[in-house]
Amino acid sequence: MHITAVDTPCLLVDIDALEANIAYLADFAQRAGVRLRPHAKSHKSADIAARQLAQGAVGLCCQTVSEAEAMVHAGVRDVLVSNEVVAPRMIDRLAALAGDARVIVCADDADNVAALEAAAARFATRLDLLVEMDVGAGRCGLAPGEPACKLARSIAACTNLRFAGLQAYHGPAQHIRDHAERRAAIDAVVGLTRDTVERLAREGLTCEIVAGAGTGSFDMEAASGVYNELQCGSYVFLDADYARVAATNGAGLPFRHSLFVLARVISKTRAGRAVCDAGLKSHSVDSGLPTVFDRPGVTYTGASDEHGQLDDPRDTLTLGDTLRLVPGHCDPTVNMHDWLVGFRGDRVVALWPVTARGMSL
Ligand code: PLP
Ligand code: MN
Repeated sequence: MHITAVDTPCLLVDIDALEANIAYLADFAQRAGVRLRPHAKSHKSADIAARQLAQGAVGLCCQTVSEAEAMVHAGVRDVLVSNEVVAPRMIDRLAALAGDARVIVCADDADNVAALEAAAARFATRLDLLVEMDVGAGRCGLAPGEPACKLARSIAACTNLRFAGLQAYHGPAQHIRDHAERRAAIDAVVGLTRDTVERLAREGLTCEIVAGAGTGSFDMEAASGVYNELQCGSYVFLDADYARVAATNGAGLPFRHSLFVLARVISKTRAGRAVCDAGLKSHSVDSGLPTVFDRPGVTYTGASDEHGQLDDPRDTLTLGDTLRLVPGHCDPTVNMHDWLVGFRGDRVVALWPVTARGMSL
């Protein structure tokens, strides 16, 4: 099938670009001597995960227990839930899952650690724990230094939990436009993480895993000598927001757009304007509007539920035309769709389910 014949709006994946992105980061990590544990929150796809693992990824990150379950049921044997798990039923599901795979989870609270220990004992499994540190993002995590070390000691004293290291991820820093500012932010992150790793070592606690980094900064953490696992997610797709980061200045980003929303012109009644069928229910605009791929002069200017407004100053669009939108933010966009329609050139060659769609608990 030609890609323009697919029902719209739908998600398209350029498999050549996807494979190039996966290969680039796999090769980069290998040369840098760090492990790669890509984040499955971006694609939620067992098919894409399998390609990442075939290229040397040591396992996957997931953001929720149900996402991790979906990946383990698809055959993944090593998952990090890069988040806190607090609800009692979810802790039980996590402890049960550790019977089928190596399960690593983050913690930032002593009572939560006790609950994880009790659940792992009940299910006769072992959970590997990372102490999550807040290295400037102001989200989850303990302060670096003694607060993080104190929790690490309490984990190390448990029977069914194993202290596996630290997670120190700074999300907002990934998206800092200016390259020098981004580097300065990550330098501070690395400094805090290094101090804590050294402090733990003096106490006899080894960090098997020092995890962090995303698509905007992975080369910096990789060069730090402190981090040993990269957990980039968006790199597989390169959304419009990351393209704006890459375009600002500095060295850019070595990835290609591989994720598109295929949209169709459904109304063309006014000069210089058109309306397409891809709105807020097809792509996420929290990181800005999508860009229009390969249609010079056409701009996406506004979204409502099922409609997208297009500026078309030279009236190049006609009714029924298809366009490829590069979504502003890939992760929530993927979660709006049941299928990824894979193509090479202009031919559809694969249909992949969004395996963990909606698994946000
Ligand atoms: N690690 C954690 C803990 C995250 O929350 C995220 C994304 O939000 C990532 C890694 C992946 O980051 P990115 O999509 O910027 O590569
Ligand atoms: Mn994201």
